[in-house]
Amino acid sequence: MTPLAAELAADVLDRFLRYVRIDTQSAHGVTTSPSTEKQLDLARLLRDELEEIGLEDVRLDEFGYVYGSLPGVESAPAIGLIAHMDTSPDVTATGVDPQVHEGYDGGVIELPNEGVVLDPEELPLLQKKVGHDIVTGDGTTLLGADDKAGVAEITAAVAYLKAHPALEHAPIRVCFTVDEEVAGGADHLDLERFGARYAYTLDGAELGEIEAETFNASKVTVIIRGRSTHPGTAKGQLVNAAKLAADFVAALPRDELSPETTEEREGFVHPTRIYGGAEETCVDLIVRDHDAAKMDEHVALLRRLAADLQEREPRASVEVTEEEQYRNMGEVIGRHPEVIEAAEEAVRRLGVEPVHSIIRGGTDGARLSWRGLPTPNLFTGGSEYHSRREWASVQDMAAAAAMLVELAQVWAERGAA
Ligand SMILES: [Zn+2]
Repeated sequence: MTPLAAELAADVLDRFLRYVRIDTQSAHGVTTSPSTEKQLDLARLLRDELEEIGLEDVRLDEFGYVYGSLPGVESAPAIGLIAHMDTSPDVTATGVDPQVHEGYDGGVIELPNEGVVLDPEELPLLQKKVGHDIVTGDGTTLLGADDKAGVAEITAAVAYLKAHPALEHAPIRVCFTVDEEVAGGADHLDLERFGARYAYTLDGAELGEIEAETFNASKVTVIIRGRSTHPGTAKGQLVNAAKLAADFVAALPRDELSPETTEEREGFVHPTRIYGGAEETCVDLIVRDHDAAKMDEHVALLRRLAADLQEREPRASVEVTEEEQYRNMGEVIGRHPEVIEAAEEAVRRLGVEPVHSIIRGGTDGARLSWRGLPTPNLFTGGSEYHSRREWASVQDMAAAAAMLVELAQVWAERGAA
């Protein structure tokens, strides 16, 4: 740990333990923002803490987003720091009881409840954290490091900058968002009022990681309409949409182009849901690829399979709809190499070599980048997200906070140059 990280560690941990105890689980299928009222419990606390720290323009808006800004040197661009307050609907966050396992010895960590264990044999990242203080839940809930680690690191970093006015740093704009786990995209983020030229989401994992590429993502729905009749008098009449849907799914590739058989830069088509009956059955699929041209090929494949089905059973109707979800932010960020270079420099000042990884998924930064705010994703020090084995390293969270303090200074140096 650098002296700066060591100085920040206690504050980051203190904030983190306070935030994870507040249940902010978001919910699918709700159109209001935030999707759950309880996310506002943390939003109000953070608004008060940002005010206490002395940030300007602190506000909690009608969507549940919390904003604040810290003025800096005028020659530097304003830098946005973004994290999400909600936790995944997959695992409960009611009554999170964080456990700090000090000075990890490299063995199996047993959580107090439900026989949940963190076995380093199964968790290669944990193996690297011998000597660290590891925070977990108690086995009954997730921890919420995704993304309260990011929230705590940003808050600790701006508190540090505010308390050390002699440090020259870029103007900082903070935004804590809601519903990243269910909606994503930070669509309600008011970019104009936010006023950042570049931004970073703090929503990654392993120490030193910088992520500038996401998938391209579309949702495809295949709607198959058959002809339903009473089965007793169906001969020569019934066209069963459920059977046709089964044929469609059976025709999908298995050894390739599937999430269960691909990794790294390999894309996929993935049926997520089949619903309906003899009259009408729908198949929902998600399509993913880092490469936009390959992405189009995958969608074309689905259209071809649907056309084959239609040809074999002309009495049915087969319709394909495509909805774009997000696009690879790498294309946008690639046009602004300075945003990555600054992050690399900040990571190196931690004594850590930056690691560039690609995201097999999306981040809020993907849509923000395409809306004109280049927003790569940085590490937070958490791991095993969306599970009861979720954990975070205190040392790595402190390093992430220190990285943000360094980043604010790197931008001031560059702006002045
Ligand atoms: Zn997250």
